[in-house]
Amino acid sequence: MVNLLLPGDAGFEQATRPWNLAVDQPVSAVAEAHDADDVADAVKLARKQGLAVAAQPSGHGASGDVDGVLLLRTRGLSTLEIDVPARTARAGAGVAWGEVQAAAGAHGLTGLPGSSPVVTVTGYTLGGGLSWFSRAHGWASSSVRSSWTGSHPSTR
Ligand SMILES: Cc1cc2nc3c(=O)[nH]c(=O)nc-3n(C[C@H](O)[C@H](O)[C@H](O)COP(=O)(O)OP(=O)(O)OC[C@H]3O[C@@H](n4cnc5c(N)ncnc54)[C@H](O)[C@@H]3O)c2cc1C
Repeated sequence: MVNLLLPGDAGFEQATRPWNLAVDQPVSAVAEAHDADDVADAVKLARKQGLAVAAQPSGHGASGDVDGVLLLRTRGLSTLEIDVPARTARAGAGVAWGEVQAAAGAHGLTGLPGSSPVVTVTGYTLGGGLSWFSRAHGWASSSVRSSWTGSHPSTR
């Protein structure tokens, strides 16, 4: 079962805080996901309560516009696999670019990160992803080979 925090629970305030501490996020609930089942649980809970779901791994892009929102923390989705012969990385929704660079760099490889090692691969790439290396290799989003699109059995 996903770890769910509600206003008044110990740790709730801390869990709502984004990277940009100038932004308050008075959300209705916070769910901390560690696997696909947790994500499915969070979506079902939100649906039951009539809440919108906002995925937010780090909160670099936090706006504070969170009325009626269940904040889905995805930092715990931390799987990272580097396929050296294929020169690809498979990163979970909570993996930050610095982690990819450390793992890939050990094999003499790099990804297409931007200026911050703590933004996530997912959030950055969903915005296009303008890298140090984009003049040579384009937007990070242009290098995405696949995303996980299978439906979870319990959310069908
Ligand atoms: C210091 C700093 C330096 C930066 N440098 C660069 C740079 O060089 N190049 C560049 O292109 N950008 C740069 N950015 C911008 C950065 O890429 C965006 O702010 C990005 O959205 C951060 O992603 P995040 O996941 O870490 O942040 P979050 O705020 O946690 O997430 C951002 C958004 O991504 C979406 N999202 C994340 N995960 C999921 C998911 N699993 N499912 C659905 N939606 C999801 C959500 O809409 C979320 O609101 C920089 C930002 C900062 C703060």
